[in-house]
Amino acid sequence: MSGLELDRIEYCPPIVVGGGVAGMTTALGLPEAVLLTEGTFAHDGSTVLAQGGIAAAMDPGDSPDLHAADSREVAGGLAVAGPVRVLTEAAPERIEWLEHLGMRFDRTLGGVLALGREAGHRKRRIVHAHGDATGAELARAMGEAVRARGSIEVIEGVTALDLVRSRGRVVGVVVRHQDESLTLMVAPAVILATGGIGRLYARTTNPASAYGGGVAMAARAGARLLDLEFVQFHPTALAGDIDPAPLFTEALRGEGALLIDG
Ligand SMILES: Cc1cc2nc3c(=O)[nH]c(=O)nc-3n(C[C@H](O)[C@H](O)[C@H](O)COP(=O)(O)OP(=O)(O)OC[C@H]3O[C@@H](n4cnc5c(N)ncnc54)[C@H](O)[C@@H]3O)c2cc1C
Repeated sequence: MSGLELDRIEYCPPIVVGGGVAGMTTALGLPEAVLLTEGTFAHDGSTVLAQGGIAAAMDPGDSPDLHAADSREVAGGLAVAGPVRVLTEAAPERIEWLEHLGMRFDRTLGGVLALGREAGHRKRRIVHAHGDATGAELARAMGEAVRARGSIEVIEGVTALDLVRSRGRVVGVVVRHQDESLTLMVAPAVILATGGIGRLYARTTNPASAYGGGVAMAARAGARLLDLEFVQFHPTALAGDIDPAPLFTEALRGEGALLIDG
């Protein structure tokens, strides 16, 4: 006999696979959810590693339209107008939402948000926290908000292996626990928020979890994959044996620093 031998079957509310900014945002928007992470909740994935900050038109001299125009320009004709509009229009209110959740952004002595500038932006519009520890502060604040929400159950140290389908739709996900036992979690919805695929390359600033497990699961379940050629490569990382490669924050260049190589 072949196939998976299950150790248990559980019935759950909607399942969110992934505890980064995407998974946490999704779970906080649901009346009830189970959130799965492969590592330690709010400490694994790319989110906690993000440095320079978040782009949003927060300055009175800036606007979502200008932000959208910059985004379209640097995309060299590849950006799709709808998502660019959503991203740039929603950004300011999302920053306010994050502050409401408890995230502390850096402010000037005058008390207004300290805005940095990064490549491709004609305006200063990068909000950040503790200088270049934006992701760590975001993961802290959102992680605490998720933990405080009684309707979200966080399960750490589990790897989602495969989606299970019945009559043409996904009805659950098989997960592996650290003791190697397997559970089929049956749910009305499974949302994959497993991050990127940067880890598939030999040298990367991306964390261990960015191996594309969720993308592969989605493909096996019949999802049509899109835009796989868009992989995050930081142009400035420290060459050496450290894995993932340490990143020189983009904020350095935004503030005018010059990087000098060998
Ligand atoms: C070094 C670095 C610096 C960055 N700096 C910035 C920045 O300044 N500004 C910016 O906007 N962006 C930055 N980024 C990009 C940003 O961090 C990511 O785009 C964002 O965090 C992605 O969030 P996510 O929720 O999609 O994925 P992630 O945060 O990667 O979360 C993925 C989650 O899925 C889980 N997971 C994966 N596979 C499985 C599985 N099979 N089963 C169970 N769980 C699974 C992981 O455990 C993790 O919890 C940076 C990225 C890196 C690596």
